[in-house]
Amino acid sequence: MSIPLLDLQAQYRSIKNEMDAAVMEVMESCHFILGSKVQELEERLATFCGTKYGVGVANGTDALILSLEAMGIGPGDEVITTPFTFFATAECISRVGAKPVFVDIEPDTFNLNTGLIEEKINENTKAIIPVHIFGQPVDMDAIMTIAKKYNLKVVEDACQAIGAEFNGKRIGGLGDTGCFSFFPSKNLGCAGDGGAVVTNDTDLAEKIQLLRQHGSPKKYHHTVLGHNSRLDALQAAILLVKLKYIDSWNDKRRENAYLYNELLKGLDVVTPYELDNIKHVYHLYIIRTKKRDILEKALKETGIGTGVYYPLPLHLQEVYADLGYKWGDLPESDRASKETIALPLFAELKREQIESVVEVVKKAIS
Ligand SMILES: *Cc1c(COP(=O)(O)O)cnc(C)c1O
Repeated sequence: MSIPLLDLQAQYRSIKNEMDAAVMEVMESCHFILGSKVQELEERLATFCGTKYGVGVANGTDALILSLEAMGIGPGDEVITTPFTFFATAECISRVGAKPVFVDIEPDTFNLNTGLIEEKINENTKAIIPVHIFGQPVDMDAIMTIAKKYNLKVVEDACQAIGAEFNGKRIGGLGDTGCFSFFPSKNLGCAGDGGAVVTNDTDLAEKIQLLRQHGSPKKYHHTVLGHNSRLDALQAAILLVKLKYIDSWNDKRRENAYLYNELLKGLDVVTPYELDNIKHVYHLYIIRTKKRDILEKALKETGIGTGVYYPLPLHLQEVYADLGYKWGDLPESDRASKETIALPLFAELKREQIESVVEVVKKAIS
């Protein structure tokens, strides 16, 4: 048996003609950097998120870095975030010279515990980066209330959650900026690296446009130090095709997740918890079990794709040793890192495949 964690070939086959035509159109035009395809994607993405602006950048990490830079965050500043996320969430804070301050997660959603944020705020705190982890939105009402009270910026790390909703509104447009990654394995992925920022703030949109292109408002004239962080026309063309399908793909992911929930009922595993005012887009289907390592081995041996997200929380990474955290400081993050495991989940996954995965889980943990 072989069931991948994610089957990108199945997705490609389902839209091959359209994808190939979109790629060939760019090849024929020979216009590869920014240009009309990128602009069209930026507009469509902004409409999709209900924001005024979209700005294409080179990847999700740069979307975060350019957001913080545009907000003027740098050395001496502190930014609050979660340790239970992909490294880039914290890396961007350090990359602009600021200090990441980690707040523990909720054990059920794996998202930032918003009740623990205020005690970490001091006069150096400038921003919060909530991460909609695994595709489930953070409680953005709580985040925005705290941000308003302490005059903090909010950068949504929406890299895993394009199309997700909080109180009926798409995430990404709820903070000051929303950052997306189009890394191939994300719910909306391109054929390489890609990313974007969405925002309603004209000043931030203009600054990010400037920063992504060498701080250059006009060719060979530079007003600030920037980056080379542009989105390719080829990637934009691919994303324009895929954006049409993202809602239906996300809905299929949700159906597949609910089927897993149903079939895993009664077993000694905790299936994903969903808040009731959100739309979860299941970037990953994560269960937790005390027998995580046994289960991981069994899945791998049977040819079933799996992964541990995340085995070492960010506050305990070697690169952050000087921040002085130790095991147990953020106990829910630490516990989650020992108990979570991903099962295969994607839109094209079939019922029989889900049933096969569940059989292996059943055998491994009983
Ligand atoms: C993927 C991801 C990123 C980084 O995106 P890249 O496009 O790989 O740079 C940042 N944050 C989270 C939560 C992610 O999952």
